[in-house]
Amino acid sequence: MQKTVLITGSSRGIGAATARLAAHQGYRVVVNYLVNQQAALELVDDINRNGGKAICQQADVSSESDVITLFQTIDRQLGPLTALVNNAGILEHQMRVEQMSVDRWQRVLTSNVISCFLCCREAVSRMSMKRGGIGGSIVNVSSVAARTGSPGEYVDYAASKGAVDAFTLGLAKEVADEGIRVNAVRPGFIYTDIHASGGEPNRVDRLKDGIPMKRGGTPKEVAHAILWLLSDEASYCTGTFIDLGGGR
Ligand code: NAP
Repeated sequence: MQKTVLITGSSRGIGAATARLAAHQGYRVVVNYLVNQQAALELVDDINRNGGKAICQQADVSSESDVITLFQTIDRQLGPLTALVNNAGILEHQMRVEQMSVDRWQRVLTSNVISCFLCCREAVSRMSMKRGGIGGSIVNVSSVAARTGSPGEYVDYAASKGAVDAFTLGLAKEVADEGIRVNAVRPGFIYTDIHASGGEPNRVDRLKDGIPMKRGGTPKEVAHAILWLLSDEASYCTGTFIDLGGGR
């Protein structure tokens, strides 16, 4: 059975590391990005030059029409999708709740929550054995923030990941007897560009002494957990979470 995975937001960071590892493990990989075409194309070239198979698809996964087009393109170009990683996500500048605008909350919630709901909906309608599909596996990328709440930094972001956790639990039970497993990873402080978009590029180094392991994590460490949850080795695992927080 040919394994095919869509990884949303895989031009950079955790998504890109997951795309590389998935290709190495024999998946055909759909690299999705929002604006950073050059990084996505370089990643796809690199995977294909090293004997893997990857294609690149721009789509804003918080937009229903973009997500529908994305899945239709995959149907046409690669056939049945067997795995989905809902990785795309954003955070905004650190501030207290009383300073936050509704526009910001809408951006955070549509980018982190609606995107996950939309991609799960399209994937389940194709994978479900009750609907003629061949089953599949979904991993949502949540955050340790769903447990800690990120006070003084981005409570809205933490709440969006709390929504992803509840959705993961409910969907996992809803489709458990349809050949689909749904799990999530909850990374802690990982070295990627996301902290710069929150206004503090060196955030992980500032906070690392408070982590029991006294270091930040790497995108590759998160990718290994995602790939394990996707794999048949996790065949009895659904509605579960792997925390990658260095003990936090
Ligand atoms: P990152 O380095 O900032 O990369 C974000 C990726 O998401 C990029 O590929 C970006 O595409 C894409 N993206 C953003 N919005 C999108 C949209 N609407 N449609 C399609 N693609 C979109 O982030 P990261 O740190 O790797 O984070 C990945 C996931 O891990 C996120 O869900 C994040 O919340 C979660 N996480 C990260 C950490 C951490 O410490 N890094 C901790 C916990 C959880 P472009 O390149 O085109 O902009």
